[in-house]
Amino acid sequence: MTVTLNGPLPSGSYDVAVVGAGVVGCAIARELARRPRLRVALVEAQDDVGQGTSKANTAILHTGFDAVPGSLEARLVREGARRLAAYAGESGIAVEPVGALLVAWDEEQRAALPHLAEKAVRNEYRATRLIEPAELYEREPHLGPGALGALHVPGESIVCPWTTTLAYATQAVRHGVDLHLNSPVSDVNWHDGEHVLSTARGTLRTRRLVNAAGLHADTLDRHLGHRDFTVTPRRGQLIVFDKLARDLVHHILLPVPTARGKGVLVTPTVYGNLLLGPTAEDLDDKRATGSTAEGLALLRESGARILPALLDEEVTAVYAGLRAATEQDDYRITAHPEQAYVTVGGIRSTGLTASLAIASHVTALLADMGLDPGPARDLEPVRMPNLGETHPRPHRNARRVAADPEYGSLVCHCEGVSRGEIRDALASTVPPRNLDGLRRRTRARAGRCQGFYCGAAVRELFEGAGA
Ligand SMILES: Cc1cc2nc3c(=O)[nH]c(=O)nc-3n(C[C@H](O)[C@H](O)[C@H](O)COP(=O)(O)OP(=O)(O)OC[C@H]3O[C@@H](n4cnc5c(N)ncnc54)[C@H](O)[C@@H]3O)c2cc1C
Repeated sequence: MTVTLNGPLPSGSYDVAVVGAGVVGCAIARELARRPRLRVALVEAQDDVGQGTSKANTAILHTGFDAVPGSLEARLVREGARRLAAYAGESGIAVEPVGALLVAWDEEQRAALPHLAEKAVRNEYRATRLIEPAELYEREPHLGPGALGALHVPGESIVCPWTTTLAYATQAVRHGVDLHLNSPVSDVNWHDGEHVLSTARGTLRTRRLVNAAGLHADTLDRHLGHRDFTVTPRRGQLIVFDKLARDLVHHILLPVPTARGKGVLVTPTVYGNLLLGPTAEDLDDKRATGSTAEGLALLRESGARILPALLDEEVTAVYAGLRAATEQDDYRITAHPEQAYVTVGGIRSTGLTASLAIASHVTALLADMGLDPGPARDLEPVRMPNLGETHPRPHRNARRVAADPEYGSLVCHCEGVSRGEIRDALASTVPPRNLDGLRRRTRARAGRCQGFYCGAAVRELFEGAGA
């Protein structure tokens, strides 16, 4: 098992290197790990996996009912949703099939609902149903006044995005993938059938290259002479409401989508909070993940209409993520056989859902370009820590606490995180490198107090482990 953080990178040539350890790059590395004959590297600029767009989304496992029919995204979201739901079940990733309601607030939106139902059928999703206001308000009594009806999409679910990325990375590393962190790739040279990647930790050689660099996929593409697309970061700001707000909704409340995206929604999270967001702001700064007063005001305005009582609830946190929007409303996944190179660009607002299907698609492209992957093996399943509310956390499991009292010793009271879970995270295959990484693995400091009470104790455990 190899995860490296510093020092020179290995000198021998890899069969495949994947640049970018977001949910997409980790899924690709995991898929390649099924082929024991391949020597695979996963190269990441930051000090942990899943620190780009993959850490800051709305965490919905989409059905793909509203994708552009016939697009690559539509197919990969449809396949990916099915596969991720099954994978989450096997791996202990928190997932809840809450279903969605697309709420119409005016006549134009109501008129659009049957078309969306037809579009869903074209996307092979046949379970939608139009519902009248009476049933809508029965299902969602706290909905603001004036809704004219809705489209029920029962297959939409919520999922834990952090554990998903981590599960892929863990499985990949356990099956022989070398994960090289702190290795931003600044240049690529392709000659004599080999890519030579310049990174902050020296060079890395590989015979095939996969670019899963998210917001920076266009920059890496240009190093190889391609100008097929430009990534425009589309910021989505979100507000997280306290767990006390959770009972205000039972479904994901979606707006009727427009050309600018899926619009502002209200959704429960698997951790028991409610999310309001995201905004959709096209920017030119790929680091602009801050929240703004205007963005939050716009969200509150939308929230006041959708779920007026929400605005009386406590806000736990705000955050923002950047979608990798391009000139086209589709993924930009392209094989360049003459360079033994695959670009996985433009993975926009559905990449979490589609990740496992993107991985299969990319490995098939690599095989089409002549990569002989050798025989496949089944991967040893991973069992990830449960961060969801639907299954009890370890401190509520008397048998587990009796066997290991560390699970009964709470450190973060808001989220019910025990010393045992923090210890396990610090000793895991892909351990956290900082307190935020520990939060994504355990939820320590993610609750109502945001670390005000538990912060010092969590830090002490983190530093004590010499992480
Ligand atoms: C507000 C918002 C809401 C969303 N909601 C949903 C949702 O509900 N459901 C859903 O399915 N999807 C959703 N998405 C989309 C989803 O989050 C993304 O599609 C997905 O996270 C993209 O993953 P990625 O691996 O392509 O990119 P990233 O997670 O950004 O990973 C790319 C990685 O590449 C690394 N990197 C970049 N350049 C280099 C380099 N030169 N060298 C080395 N490493 C490099 C970065 O550090 C980063 O870790 C949402 C996105 C946003 C922003």
